[in-house]
Amino acid sequence: MVLGAGKKDAVEEARRCLQCANPVCVPACPLGIDIPGFIRAIRENETDKALSLIRQKNVFASICGRICPAPCEKACVLEEEGVTIGIRALERFVADTGREKAAASVAPTGKKVAVVGSGPAGMAAAAELAGQGFSVTVFESGPFAGGALAAYIPEFRLPRKTLTKEWDILKKLGVEVKTSVGLGTSMTFESLQAEGFNAVLLAVGAGSVKIASLPGVNLGGVFFAAEFLQRINFLQTTRSLGKEPLPFGKKLVIIGSGADALDCGRVAVRLGASATVIFEHTEDEIPVRAAEVQQAREEGVAVEPLARVTELLGDARGFVRAVRCFRMDFADPASTGQWKLLPVAGSEFEVPADTALVSSVGGSHAWLGRILPKLHVASDGTIRTNELTGMTSVAGVFAVEPAKAGEPSATRAFAAGRRAAQNVVRFFQT
Ligand SMILES: Cc1cc2nc3c(=O)[nH]c(=O)nc-3n(C[C@H](O)[C@H](O)[C@H](O)COP(=O)(O)OP(=O)(O)OC[C@H]3O[C@@H](n4cnc5c(N)ncnc54)[C@H](O)[C@@H]3O)c2cc1C
Ligand code: SF4
Repeated sequence: MVLGAGKKDAVEEARRCLQCANPVCVPACPLGIDIPGFIRAIRENETDKALSLIRQKNVFASICGRICPAPCEKACVLEEEGVTIGIRALERFVADTGREKAAASVAPTGKKVAVVGSGPAGMAAAAELAGQGFSVTVFESGPFAGGALAAYIPEFRLPRKTLTKEWDILKKLGVEVKTSVGLGTSMTFESLQAEGFNAVLLAVGAGSVKIASLPGVNLGGVFFAAEFLQRINFLQTTRSLGKEPLPFGKKLVIIGSGADALDCGRVAVRLGASATVIFEHTEDEIPVRAAEVQQAREEGVAVEPLARVTELLGDARGFVRAVRCFRMDFADPASTGQWKLLPVAGSEFEVPADTALVSSVGGSHAWLGRILPKLHVASDGTIRTNELTGMTSVAGVFAVEPAKAGEPSATRAFAAGRRAAQNVVRFFQT
């Protein structure tokens, strides 16, 4: 189904749903949305009811309806025949056209909670807590609310007005948002306590970016994919794009297979550069929907699957001039039936580049642990929490759990934020 389709297309698409007795799409959705239920409401012409069914599990349907990797569609029983239901597009249709039901009033608990971090996890946590009668303030160290959604994802995939609309939902729930205030820099647990906060919920994302150990990564002209996107988004937000020189060349190679890599390629092409996205897996294995890879190709991004980058090569001035790669292919060298992706002997090749963008390989909160010594941060950089209560090593301070399996996504972060908020609610109930 085409994104942003109108009512007729949406109802036709909804009619194709088999309404399975044991729907496999529901457990595949990190938020557990009643997918058959909201699709049934669309085909019965009850878009408002569809919206309220989605909102029971997902306050931010406009965002998921645009950028969710839609694991529900991969699970759909029609996927095998190549005619999976366009669940994400239906969610977007409902979010864009359904009318909001006035929120039921809840008795205030009299408790104040500080949510630190305004990404999807913080947004979902704030919505859940405010919906249960807590007074919530979100503190964000960056200049804009929205976390990675605002900082990195390009406007053409997630319009800022969509984000603003979603923040309005939070405002209606009474959530206050303070930007350019960082925990560990402009405030501490003690200062929050002194301000009357009864609990703190850390929704600080993945932390500082970890650097891939790739030879040549320190050459001039090599940037992190996220940094490239952040700079362009910032220039767009401040309307200075095109007025200031960009420190990027005209021949970009992007190393990575996530949404950030594809986004870099699409942004680079829009800025008039050439872009090649290189990754060592097959296209089926990467965490981006096939339709999005196709879209990037149609826009002029070259996509090189099954190629492992082994080195970034520099010129005499210390600037990147090319990346060296090997072709990859499935092989079973010991004939044990254990097929693996391995470099193909003699397949070395170079891709010329004047700029290389490297995707991150995870994050770490070691820095936060250092400036807030009471906070126990494990050696892998994750904030330690009690498995049962979700509380950190600091009394009354909770944290959103990092994803244990699967690719990180905004949808998973919404789900994790909601779960963490429920831990806070339970803490005050016991
Ligand atoms: C380029 C790119 C494209 C993506 N595309 C998609 C996509 O298409 N679909 C999808 O589902 N997901 C996508 N993602 C992934 C998704 O954005 C993340 O999984 C999600 O944002 C994680 O949410 P979070 O709230 O945990 O963290 P974040 O979004 O990182 O938010 C954490 C926030 O906490 C703030 N913070 C950190 N430390 C402090 C502190 N000490 N004090 C105050 N504030 C602090 C940070 O500034 C940040 O705003 C993409 C990510 C990137 C980078
Ligand atoms: S949030 Fe994502 S996984 Fe859940 S129903 Fe919507 S598109 Fe599917």
